[in-house]
This record gives sequence, C-alpha cells and structure tokens, in this order.
Amino acid sequence: MAGIRISGLSKFYGGKDSGMAALTDLDLDIKDNQFVTLLGPSGCGKTTTLRLIAGYVMPDAGTIRVDDRVISSVDGVAPPDRRGMGMVFQNYAVWPHKTVFENVVFGLKLRKVPADEARRKVEETLALVNLAGLEARLPNELSGGQQQRVALARSLVVEPGILLLDEPLSNLDAKLRERMRVELKQLQRRTGITFVYVTHDQAEALALSDQIAVMHGGKLQQYGSPDEVYRRPANKIVADFMGIVNFLPGELRAGTGGAPVLVVDGVEMAAPVGSKLHAGQAVDLAVRPENVRISRLRESPDQLVARVTEHTYLGNLSEYWLELASGAVLRAQTHPLEPFQVGDEVHVSIDAGECSVFPQAAAA
Ligand code: ADP
Ligand code: MG
Repeated sequence: MAGIRISGLSKFYGGKDSGMAALTDLDLDIKDNQFVTLLGPSGCGKTTTLRLIAGYVMPDAGTIRVDDRVISSVDGVAPPDRRGMGMVFQNYAVWPHKTVFENVVFGLKLRKVPADEARRKVEETLALVNLAGLEARLPNELSGGQQQRVALARSLVVEPGILLLDEPLSNLDAKLRERMRVELKQLQRRTGITFVYVTHDQAEALALSDQIAVMHGGKLQQYGSPDEVYRRPANKIVADFMGIVNFLPGELRAGTGGAPVLVVDGVEMAAPVGSKLHAGQAVDLAVRPENVRISRLRESPDQLVARVTEHTYLGNLSEYWLELASGAVLRAQTHPLEPFQVGDEVHVSIDAGECSVFPQAAAA
C-alpha cells in the first residue's frame, strides 16, 4: 500500500568521522505491495536499514521517501508513529500480563477507535493470523508461534501501509518456521501491505520474497528476484551466500569463430553466456552442486575427469565430493540410478548455461 525509495543512505554509528560505517550509500527501490527481503550475514547492516526506515535511527547521508514524501534525510525525520509503518521483532514483544485481545487492541485504543469497531477489527485481524478464539488467553498460555502471531496482529490491526519484520521467525523451531513462512507470504498477499523482511537465512529469503537485497559489510551487493540472485549472482559474495557453490579456477580463451570458450582443468567447454570478460583472463567458474552431472563412461569431449572422494546420502539426493586432475574439489548433488563409490573414476559435465564466471583475484 506504500512504496519506499531509498537513495544514498549511509549510517555511521559514532558519527561520520568514526570510520565505522554500518551502512554505505544504499539505493533501494521497494515497490508498493511487494515482499522485499534484506538478506546477509550478521552485522551486515540489515537491522540498521530497518531502523532507518522505521525512523528510530537518523541517517548520516541520503534520503528515504515513502510514496514520494521524504520521511528521512539529514535535514530531518518524520517521527516513527507518523510513518504508517508497523514493526515485528525476533523476540515477540507482547505484554505478558495482558490478554491476546488487550495486546492487539492497544493501537486502536491509542487512536481512539470506538469500542465496537475496535472489537470487530481485532476479531478480523486475529482470524487473519489464525488466532481466532484465543482472545482471552495470556501470552504464557500460548506457544512461541502463537505469541509471534499476536505480535503480528498487533502491528496489522492499525492497517499500516508498510510492515517491517526483523528476523521474526528466528526463535521458532525449524518445522514451525517453515509453516510460518507460508503464512507470512499469504498474509502479505491477502493484505497488500508492503513487507520489508530481514533475515540471515537464504532459504527463507528465497521462499518468501518478490525481491531480495543481498547485503554484505554495510553495502548492497545485488537487488533482484530470488531466481536472479540464485542463478545470476552479481559477484562471488552473492554466489557464495545464496547456497552451496564451487569456485573452479579457469581461463577464458577465444574459441574457433571468436566465441569465448572456458578452459577448466585443461578441458575446453562452452563459456557461460553473458560473461563480459576478455579472452586470456583468469576466472573462477561458480558452479552449483545441482549443475554437475556425473557419468561412469566418457560421453563427450567437454567432460572433466574426476575421482570420487566422498559420498553423502541426503535422502532425495546424493552428494559426491569429486577431486579433479588439478586437485580442485567439486561438490555435486545428483540422483544417479546406480550410486558411485568412493575411489571411482568418473566423468563430469558442467552445465555452463547455469554457471557464472567472475574475475580471479578481482581488484577489490
Ligand atoms: P545486522 O542486523 O545485519 O546483523 P546491524 O545493522 O545490527 O547488522 O549492525 C551493522 C553494524 O553496525 C555492525 O557492525 C554492528 O556492530 C554495528 N552497530 C549496530 N548497532 C549499533 C549501535 N547502536 N552502536 C554502534 N554500533 C552498532
Ligand atoms: Mg539484525
């Protein structure tokens, strides 16, 4: 129900001259009615970004606009309660001595919503987060998942245009976390509220988001759809953070007809499309384990020769650790009809169309 436009946003805790940048020059366009996730390792600036959006932290540079209205800049900020945003945290932040109803109705009372209407809105919101019938319970009579739903309901009941969520599922066990993922996604779709979601869990980000902003060291690394950041990572940091990846050293060379070919382990293969690198350049080929195919017999000239050094049964898949002639190690996940054994010599095809190349030892 509201879009957010962030430009040139920076934050230095301890002042601009401290050199301690928590966030550097962030540009981000969050469209109305989207589920956007800030993803990155601990300390990369996710919470800082969320608190800047919420108005609890003042920027040292840059602006934040909501629907083209400036709400934060170095010249001044709109107070948090005037931004039309709700916020949900990791620790549920519900009042332990108040019932579910009292917790949820709080924001409506503050806004002097008439009692009848307030009751109706609370009922509707509790139904939305699957808590209907639990109005009279106290938080300690609820599970962790239910307490987090109370926190959600409390933010949603006042109908914010934007909901900010900071690792809201981190305190829940794995099974419940997966179920709540689905519920959050459905909630976002049903309400049309713009969700800005923070997590360090790449699987969660992939499952939930319309767009993912991958952050590292206070800087935005890539902003794109789950498919883009997973399959077309902008750099090695993103490739590495989005899932298991092998980096194989190789070299780009001009092939017959001028099209670049990639040489890995002495074997020529098709270069990934769109690699904007010059022939002769040393590169790392980023290969996801699911894009490696293993055969017992040699099937084509672009296969690498490898030896199986480890085999892990994953249930739906098997993982093989493969040692190439050069000594480089390649992790592959596949589902062969007839399993390979440790010590087997095998032939390995890499689906170059699904891989990316990055310059080796890039000038940082
Ligand atoms: P994330 O949420 O991604 O884990 P944060 O935004 O909390 O990261 O932190 C980013 C950086 O800013 C970290 O280096 C952290 O130590 C620092 N930081 C966060 N909050 C404060 C604060 N209130 N005072 C000083 N440094 C802070
Ligand atoms: Mg954080």
